[in-house]
Amino acid sequence: MQSYQAATDALKDKVILVTGAGDGIGKEAALTYARYGATVILLGKTVNKLTAVYDEIVANGGQEPAIVPLDLKGATAKHYRDMAATIDAEFGRLDGVLHNAGILGVLSPFEHIDLATWNDIMQVNVTSAMLMTQALIPLLKRTAAASVVFTSSGVGRKGRAFWGPYAVSKFATEGLMQVMADEFENSSIRVNCINPGATRTKMRSKAYPGEDVSKLKTAADLMWLYLYLMSDDSTDVNGQSLDAQPK
Ligand code: NDP
Repeated sequence: MQSYQAATDALKDKVILVTGAGDGIGKEAALTYARYGATVILLGKTVNKLTAVYDEIVANGGQEPAIVPLDLKGATAKHYRDMAATIDAEFGRLDGVLHNAGILGVLSPFEHIDLATWNDIMQVNVTSAMLMTQALIPLLKRTAAASVVFTSSGVGRKGRAFWGPYAVSKFATEGLMQVMADEFENSSIRVNCINPGATRTKMRSKAYPGEDVSKLKTAADLMWLYLYLMSDDSTDVNGQSLDAQPK
C-alpha cells in the first residue's frame, strides 16, 4: 500500500480541516491536501505559522484556505460549535478532519508526573479532538463520504518508560477512534488513526535531542497515507490504526 498514488485531483471539491497545520507533519499535510485540490482549513495556535502556510498554498495555485487560530488547551465546546457554524456558513460542507495537533510534554519518571502537565496533555491531545469532532459531526454527516483521522504513536500501542501522559493520551486516541468507528460503522463517516512513526520535526527533536536527523523520514515521506485516508479510495476503511512507515 505504501506505493499508493493518489490521482492528482483526488481531493477536488473537498473541504478538509487540519489541526496543528502551521508546523511539522500538519503543515506538510495541509500543503499536500491543497496540492491535490482540497480547500484546507488551517487550525493552529501560532497565527504567523498559519499565515505562512496560507501564503504558500495560494502561491502554489491552491484553493484559497481558511485560517482558524485556536489554542486547543483553552478551547471549550462552545468554541468548537461556533467554529462548526462558521465552516457551515463559509463552505457549506466538511469532508475530512485530520486531528494532528499534539504536545509531548516532558519525558519524566512516572513518580514525577505532575497533574497540571498531565491535564494539559490530555486536553490538547485527546479532549480537544473529542469535543471538536462532536461539534463537527452534523456537518460531516451531510457529506457522502467523510473521513476523520486521528494521530496516534508507537507509544499509543505499547507503553514505554518515561513517556507517561503523552503515551497514555495516544492510547486514549486509539480508543476514541475505535469507539467512534464502531458507532459510525453504518454511516457515511469513517474513522481511522495514523501512526506517523519517527519523523523529522520539532517534536521528535524534543524527544530525542542529539539524534542524527538525517536518518529520519521527513513529513513528506508519510503523505501517501495521509492522502489515502482523505481520498475516496479509502471509503471502505474504518476503525484501522495504520502505520505511515510500515516495517
Ligand atoms: P510538531 O511539534 O512539529 O507540531 C505540532 C503542531 O501542533 C504544531 O503545528 C503546533 O502549533 C500544534 N499545536 C500544539 N499545541 C497546540 C495547541 N495547544 N493548540 C493548537 N495547536 C497546537 O509535531 P509533529 O508534527 O511531529 O507531530 C504531529 C502529530 O504527530 C502529533 O500528534 C504527534 O504526537 C504525532 N507523532 C509525531 C511523531 C514524530 O516523530 N514527529 C511520531 C509519532 C506521532 P504551534 O507550532 O503553533 O505550537
